[in-house]
Amino acid sequence: MAKQRAKLVVGNWKMHGRLADNKVLLQAVSQGADALPEYVGVGVCVPCPYLPQAQALLNGGRVAWGVQDVSAHAQGAFTGEVAAAMAAEFGASYAIVGHSERRAYHLESAELVATKTQRALEAGLTPIVCVGETLVQREAGDTERVVGMQIDEVLAALSPDDTARIVVAYEPVWAIGTGKTASAEQAQAVHAFLRARLAAKSEAAAERVALLYGGSVKPDNAEHLFRQQDIDGGLIGGASLKHLDFLAICQAAVAANAVR
Ligand code: PEP
Repeated sequence: MAKQRAKLVVGNWKMHGRLADNKVLLQAVSQGADALPEYVGVGVCVPCPYLPQAQALLNGGRVAWGVQDVSAHAQGAFTGEVAAAMAAEFGASYAIVGHSERRAYHLESAELVATKTQRALEAGLTPIVCVGETLVQREAGDTERVVGMQIDEVLAALSPDDTARIVVAYEPVWAIGTGKTASAEQAQAVHAFLRARLAAKSEAAAERVALLYGGSVKPDNAEHLFRQQDIDGGLIGGASLKHLDFLAICQAAVAANAVR
């Protein structure tokens, strides 16, 4: 029988939310997550101003919280930036780094993403390192070269022990917010490639690191994706803003483990 790994489902709220709406969403997610088995981890990455609210409403429950980016600097004259240690002060567990929207709109390089990964780890956060190819790159047969370069830059900056402390999210750019999902087979192929890249750095880390899939994951496609051998859960954008959808995706993680 295939080996069972713990599952992890993390929401990326992006720049969405208002205090009153967040309260309803966080309370519903927290309540629903209480019914999940231990082996399914749940998190939500909120806009920074809502960290105190997430902390107040989620503290002591099953749902961890985090941020969607951190500065590459520990502190200093960097107007508008948020240090990883600041997020940690509000009990954050996760920091997304290298999301394709940051790479595209803020021209973040693979090197910068590697530095942000280090800053997150230093602050005690778990970095969720996003990698993924554009449609043009996929169609040119460049997927492995692109995601390989993105992950290798991060791995080169980390010790084997620190490598075991990251989460990696494969998010094909063409599938984010578009309604187009990579097929489970396409996603599994890239996840297996990423697992092998991790193993080249450290076999132990490759076993431990959760590899999440992200890109238009919805309740109706999540289970099939999560059933794949190297898909350990999901990074969920749009569907994380609706508690019923997000919780249904968490339930898909339970169902996927049951049939593997
Ligand atoms: C994301 O932004 O990380 C994401 C996966 O978005 P969506 O689920 O909306 O495609």
